[in-house]
Amino acid sequence: MVREIPIAISACLLGEQVRYDGQHKLQDWITQMENVEWLPVCPEVEAGMGVPREKIQVELVDGDLRLMGISSRHDWTVAIDQQACQRIEWLKSRKICGYVLKSRSPSCGIQSVPVWSEGLPEPVSLGNGRFVDRLVEQWRDLPLADETMLQQEQGRQQFLQQVRDYWTRQQD
Ligand code: SF4
Repeated sequence: MVREIPIAISACLLGEQVRYDGQHKLQDWITQMENVEWLPVCPEVEAGMGVPREKIQVELVDGDLRLMGISSRHDWTVAIDQQACQRIEWLKSRKICGYVLKSRSPSCGIQSVPVWSEGLPEPVSLGNGRFVDRLVEQWRDLPLADETMLQQEQGRQQFLQQVRDYWTRQQD
């Protein structure tokens, strides 16, 4: 029997209706990937934001990156950091070998998230979502991809090879 490799994934990409507007972002290619055990995670729901919820964004505030409610100005930074610490520990216990993340999300995005600064009409830079910042800090060699990198078969095969190589290294 072929063993399934555990890979974490942003829950909305798996079809769970956890986005701020109560929708999902199911990606059809997920069903085409064989021998994978998907472990869905939604940092924002787990941090207590609820569905539906206010949109949030990454902001530069007094030199620090913060995760802010756009209208309420509620600061979610500490809540996401705490959720990330707990969830990353759990994912380590499940021995995941990769993580597929939602692009541009202020929590899940990889190097694609607009960073805003109060009073400026355009983002000042692009960076990681807050959850991903904690993930790369605590798990530097874990293979990561977002859904835009996996739209084509070649991208999926490259990512799966990284995942298999990581899995093999864990068996040594
Ligand atoms: S992008 Fe991440 S935080 Fe946003 S809905 Fe999807 S899983 Fe949840």
